Amino acid sequence: MVTEQTQPEVNIGLVGHVDHGKTTLVQALSGDWTDQHSEEMKRGISIRLGYADATLRRCPECDEPECYTVEETCPEHDVETEVMRTVSFVDAPGHETLMATMLSGASIMDGAVLVVSATEDVPQAQTEEHLMALDIIGIENIVIAQNKVDLVDDERARENYEQIQEFVEGTVAEDAPVVPVSAQQGVNVDLVIAALEEQIPTPERDETLPPKMYTARSFDINRPGTKAKDLLGGVIGGSLAQGTLSEGDEIELRPGREVEEGGSSEYHSIETSVRSLQAGGQSQEKVGPGGLLGVGTGLDPSLTKGDALAGQVAGEPGTLPPTRNAFEMDVELLDRVVGEGEVDEISTGEPLMLTVGTATTVGAVTSARSGECEVNLKRPVCADEGAKIAINRRMGARWRLIGVGTLTE
Ligand code: GDP
Ligand code: MG
Repeated sequence: MVTEQTQPEVNIGLVGHVDHGKTTLVQALSGDWTDQHSEEMKRGISIRLGYADATLRRCPECDEPECYTVEETCPEHDVETEVMRTVSFVDAPGHETLMATMLSGASIMDGAVLVVSATEDVPQAQTEEHLMALDIIGIENIVIAQNKVDLVDDERARENYEQIQEFVEGTVAEDAPVVPVSAQQGVNVDLVIAALEEQIPTPERDETLPPKMYTARSFDINRPGTKAKDLLGGVIGGSLAQGTLSEGDEIELRPGREVEEGGSSEYHSIETSVRSLQAGGQSQEKVGPGGLLGVGTGLDPSLTKGDALAGQVAGEPGTLPPTRNAFEMDVELLDRVVGEGEVDEISTGEPLMLTVGTATTVGAVTSARSGECEVNLKRPVCADEGAKIAINRRMGARWRLIGVGTLTE
């Protein structure tokens, strides 16, 4: 655990095929194990988005790159290390059935580490699918961690390195550095930190705009059996894209909750207030954009339980993008689908799974022309014109990423 913490200022995603070592690498960098859900522990895979903060530091007396560390004291020189910045890691699940979770996480990533195991041929299916997703969502700052190098000999490591180079050619990760590491043995973690500092700068964000937070998780933090009068309000977790939030602020959540009225149902936005703020492992009175935060609200915790509010946009009442039950989008299809070959045009009537910001919804195509289509959504989304949409099609038993949309109206 890192003790001294500032607010994290950037979100770094961990993406890649299941079992290649994403969660282990987060642990090597942060000391936190992100698979905390009991089901995750049992099955040994990440199911939900995991997150952990780490303060990246440097020893003033060591040479590069050995100087880069997450330790507060340099074991070599016994001096205090200097803080460079605090970052949040968003640990995406790599299992093929969990693309929606990966995609919603990707929408709050400022950059990403693509973890590739040296023990397998490149690319494995989700190595490729996750990289396509980064490309689609426009995440260009990428570091490749060639992991598990402790398990292979030099020749195999070199061969795997060449496969990685060949695989990323012509993609958004073409110029990404490839850092050989052993996340489990903690080998070359200094090189990973150096690459993160170099490749994933903290983006400029505007604190003067009204706050806009993308919610990725939501929780009921009360222990079972807590008396009603002692219940703490529901907590939402996510990242501010712009603006600041302070204790006491009024906030609105969109699309909000489903309300049944006379046989039909519609979504009404929810208003509440900010009761507490958590960032970088500490309570804060005020938080800015970047990094992951937890916002304690005045909401009934049953509303926030089990990620029920994941995908909502939170911000100053009256300033949020519109809630849409349907929209039109320009569509750019991928050249091919991982493991499936060519992508057929979108057709009227087909269902699509759409990720808009951190929200995932299913839409039925009501009209399709080449390069654009209209969809009717099962669950509405809160989004502005110009929003990027990851488009997935049902193929066999699962949803496959087939392209990117841009919301036009
Ligand atoms: P994820 O699915 O990508 O999050 O993968 P995990 O981090 O859960 O790791 C999968 C398995 O690989 C676990 O049993 C880890 O202990 C192991 N592992 C991860 N990194 C390394 C490494 O660098 N070397 C070795 N030998 N094993 C590793
Ligand atoms: Mg994992």
